[in-house]
Amino acid sequence: MNEELKMYTCERCGKPTPNYREYSPSQAAIVGVQGRSWCDECRRELHILHEWENEQCAEERLVCPYCESSIDDPWYYDEDDEEVVCPECKRTFELEITTVRTYRTWRRIKDMPDGWNGEEF
Ligand SMILES: [Zn+2]
Ligand SMILES: [Zn+2]
Repeated sequence: MNEELKMYTCERCGKPTPNYREYSPSQAAIVGVQGRSWCDECRRELHILHEWENEQCAEERLVCPYCESSIDDPWYYDEDDEEVVCPECKRTFELEITTVRTYRTWRRIKDMPDGWNGEEF
């Protein structure tokens, strides 16, 4: 029996690979593709890169990806700061500040009906 393996192209290095990971429909909608192919080598590299980055997604605290200490005065940094030196371990890491959008809406005064007395209409 000679079962032929379906081959894909690694998205990262272009080498042929049998690896293919299909996204769930909801994931695919976010990422914009149906699935991804990465060869074993690239998978390993991406995994290593990801492990190294040690991304800290603490919503309200700024956490150092080296010593994982929480940095006081996070408001001291602003959106232009892309690199931060940890006050604890003195190592430099990258920072992205995301601002949460809030919404405030109100009716226009000029749309208030004449003689409106403060009750719902
Ligand atoms: Zn590859
Ligand atoms: Zn640190």
